[in-house]
Amino acid sequence: MTQPKPTPQDPKLTVAEARQHLLTTLTPVAGWECVAIRDALGRVLSRPVIAPFDVPAHDNSAMDGFAVRFEDLAADGETGLKVVGTAYAGRAFSGIVGAGQAVRVMTGAVVPQGSDTIVVQEVARVEGDRVIVPAGRKRGQNLRRAGEDLARGKPALAAGKRVGAADLGLLASLGVAEVTVFRRLRVAFMSTGDEIASIGNPLGPGQVYDSNRYTLHAALTALGVDLVDMGVIRDRPELIEEAFRTAAASADVVITSGGVSVGEADFVRDLMARLGEVRFWKLDIKPGRPMAFGRVGDAWLFGLPGNPVAVMVSYAQFVVDSLLRLMGVDPLPARPTFEVPCDDPIRKNPGRREFPRGELYQAGDGWRVRLAGNQGSGVLRSMAEANCFIVLDESRGSVAAGDTVEVQLFDGLF
Ligand code: AMP
Ligand code: MG
Repeated sequence: MTQPKPTPQDPKLTVAEARQHLLTTLTPVAGWECVAIRDALGRVLSRPVIAPFDVPAHDNSAMDGFAVRFEDLAADGETGLKVVGTAYAGRAFSGIVGAGQAVRVMTGAVVPQGSDTIVVQEVARVEGDRVIVPAGRKRGQNLRRAGEDLARGKPALAAGKRVGAADLGLLASLGVAEVTVFRRLRVAFMSTGDEIASIGNPLGPGQVYDSNRYTLHAALTALGVDLVDMGVIRDRPELIEEAFRTAAASADVVITSGGVSVGEADFVRDLMARLGEVRFWKLDIKPGRPMAFGRVGDAWLFGLPGNPVAVMVSYAQFVVDSLLRLMGVDPLPARPTFEVPCDDPIRKNPGRREFPRGELYQAGDGWRVRLAGNQGSGVLRSMAEANCFIVLDESRGSVAAGDTVEVQLFDGLF
């Protein structure tokens, strides 16, 4: 397949085109390791896990009750059966259930030989050493079949699966102690700008504290990548070049913020072109219009905008799935959107995709969204108060109060 390779002269890409470019370009890192299953949490399987035996290993009872032979039961009345023993979970009944007999069973007990149906204790009546079973039972009722959960030899978890809580439990249920996972992705990140101060230092005139490295630190930590924090780099070409070279030598991915617009201090794009390759840098999106993607040396580079909200929007819409792809996640997680009425009017011109920040809340029987505070692309508080993006497509014009809009939850993004 030929990849689109826009040059800086090319027109802007839509959000969908940029995502498509990223997700067809990027492939999982080579390299894997074996880890104990507890350490596999959040890691990505590089090989499928094959079930070494049936789960459950035996037919067992799904309920507390009585194991019976279905053929013994009268179709149209009660049947009295002699109770000849008990089967516990972990302690089977050693005999065979004969004609006219039943065995008391606990949930999880191996189904006694000779029986084929479990009668739940709630419908049975015990009279001395007999149990009275009403009509209306079904053959095979209340049994969990061997292999019902997982059949031996079948893949229990596929390669590309990011291991979560249920997966850890499943692996343990198979007696699997170690799994093979992709090596951790290494991501270097830095902030650029003469006006950016690091916390711990006093703010000089016109300076702002660096917030982008903290939002990125948080998001990348949640993703489970190895972090290389490169700090704040001044707007000087030789310093940025040195930082790029250092970062690219040690990391798979370099993420920068700031310095990608067409202002004077915008070295990032030019450096990329010189040290590697620029794939795209203009997008039909708000906020986050300038975003560079390409290579420096052997590393992929994401040159995010400087504005703190724009950083988070571009991270959510482009970077997180790119990193998951590099980590080996397959298929990528679904990113569902929902349609809900919006309380506030939103001004917009058709042409680009916009991501105002919203607060999804429950109102009576349904859900609604309202704008989360000041929508300036530098106003981080709008992100902190929001729980979703409102997604306004390219073709959409202004939103009137009460109009339906699409929302995308932050869950799973940051
Ligand atoms: P730039 O893209 O470098 O022109 O930056 C756009 C805006 O974002 C400017 O107002 C910067 O001061 C601000 N900005 C850039 N980087 C950061 C950062 N790391 N933390 C907070 N604000 C930033
Ligand atoms: Mg700057």
